[in-house]
Amino acid sequence: MVSTSLLPLESPSPAYICPYDQACSYLEEAARELKLDQNILEVLSNPRKVVTVSIPVKRDDGEVQVLAGHRVQHCDILGPYKGGIRYHPAVTLREVSALAMLMTWKCALVGIPYGGAKGGIAIDPKRYSIGELERITRRYTSELLKDIGPSVDIPAPDMGTSAREMAWMMDTYSVNVGHAVPGIVTGKPLSIGGSRGREMATGRGVMIVVREALRDLGNLVIGTRVVIQGFGNVGSAAALLLHEAGAKVIAVSTGSGGVFAEKGLDIPALKAYAAENHRSVVGFPHAEPISNAELLTLPCDVLIPAALENQITEENADQVQAKIVAEAANGPVTLEANRALDARGIIVLPDILANAGGVVVSYLEWVQGLSYVFWDEDRVNRELEYLMVHAYRQVIQQSKARQIPLRVAAYTLGVGRVAQALSDRGLYP
Ligand code: NAD
Repeated sequence: MVSTSLLPLESPSPAYICPYDQACSYLEEAARELKLDQNILEVLSNPRKVVTVSIPVKRDDGEVQVLAGHRVQHCDILGPYKGGIRYHPAVTLREVSALAMLMTWKCALVGIPYGGAKGGIAIDPKRYSIGELERITRRYTSELLKDIGPSVDIPAPDMGTSAREMAWMMDTYSVNVGHAVPGIVTGKPLSIGGSRGREMATGRGVMIVVREALRDLGNLVIGTRVVIQGFGNVGSAAALLLHEAGAKVIAVSTGSGGVFAEKGLDIPALKAYAAENHRSVVGFPHAEPISNAELLTLPCDVLIPAALENQITEENADQVQAKIVAEAANGPVTLEANRALDARGIIVLPDILANAGGVVVSYLEWVQGLSYVFWDEDRVNRELEYLMVHAYRQVIQQSKARQIPLRVAAYTLGVGRVAQALSDRGLYP
C-alpha cells in the first residue's frame, strides 16, 4: 500500500468504503498492469495540494454557522487543475481527494490538457435559502482566491451546484482581482461566457458511449430498455437524449424515490414534473412507484447510475440484470462489484470514460473563452462526439490488446499518459 500522508484517516463504520482507498486501489491495479515505477506510483498516489477553509455564514435567522470547504488539487503535470464543486451532506476530505484523483485520469484519458481537482462543502443545499447559498459560495471562493485561477485551477459544477453557483464564483473572483475573469470557472451561464451544450454535455457523453457499446453488441439504441438512478443534471440529460434517440427509459429515481413504467416513461413530461416538484419524480402520473434498491436490479439492457458513489456493491451486484452498466456518476460501482459484474459478462463503462463529456465541454468552454470566439451548439456537440468516440475506441482497443476489463483499460490509458509526462518532466528540484 502506498502512503497518503496529506489526508487524515477517517474512523468509519464497518460497512464504510473509503473512496480514497478505493481510488488508490484502481491506481495500483493500473500501475501493476503498466509495471509502473514505484516512485512514480508514490507521487501519483498523493494529492499535490489539500486546502480546507472555514466558511462562516450568516443564516437568514441571524445565526452564524461555520462550514468547512475543501479544495483538493491532485496533479497538474498536464495542465491547470480542473474539477467540480460538490454541495452534498456526505462530502468528506477523503471523498473530495478521491474525486480529484479521478479527474486527473479522466482528463488524460480523453486527451485534454488538464490535471485533476475537486472541491466540496458538506451541506444539503435544499436546507439553505438562495441568499445563504450565495453567501456560502462567495465566501468559499474568496477563501480560495490564492489557490484558483484561469491558468491554475478552474472549478465547474458538480452535485448540488450549477451554472448559478459558477456565476457567483466568477463574480467574486473578478471583483477581487479588479476585472472580469470568465475563464476562472466553466459551466457558467451563456451570458458570461458559458458554452452552448455544456448543460447537456455529461449526459450527452453518457449517451454516446452507451450507443457505441450497444453498437458493438450489435444492437441499436431504438427500443433499448434503460434504467437511470438520479435525475439531476447528468441523469435527466442522459434520459432525455436516450429517449429522443428512441430508447425506452423504463425507470428513473431521485433521492426521494423512483418511478417505473413498463412501456417507457415520457421523459420531457417527467422533466417538467420534476421541475415543479422540488426536483423529485415521486408521484409522476402514469407510472408506478419504485424504490432505489429495486430500481438497480430491474431487468433492462442499460443501467445508468447517475447519482452517488457505491450504489452497486458486493451486496447487490449479483442481482443486477442489465447488459451494460454505464457509470454516469463517479464511483457508483465498487471494486468488488465491478469484478462480480465482469465475471457475469456485464459490460461496465467506467466513470472516467462514461461521464467525461462534462469536462470535455468545460475544456471547449475554456478554449472558446481564451480565443474570444464562441461556437454554435452543433460545433460543440461535434467536438464532444469526436473526443468521446475516440476515447471509447481506445479503451476497447486497450482492453482487447491487454485482455483486461474496461475499467483497468481506461485507467492504464489515463495513468500511463500522466506517468509518461511525469517521467519526461522529471522531479523538481
Ligand atoms: P445533481 O445534484 O444535479 O443530481 C443528483 C441526482 O441524484 C438528483 O436527482 C438527486 O435526487 C439524486 N440522488 C441523490 N441521492 C440519491 C439517492 N440516494 N438515490 C437516488 N438518487 C439520488 O448532480 P449531477 O451533477 O447530476 O451529478 C451526479 C453524479 O454525476 C455525481 O456523481 C457527479 O460527480 C457526477 N458527474 C457530474 C458531472 C456534471 O457535469 N454535473 C460531470 C461528471 C460527473
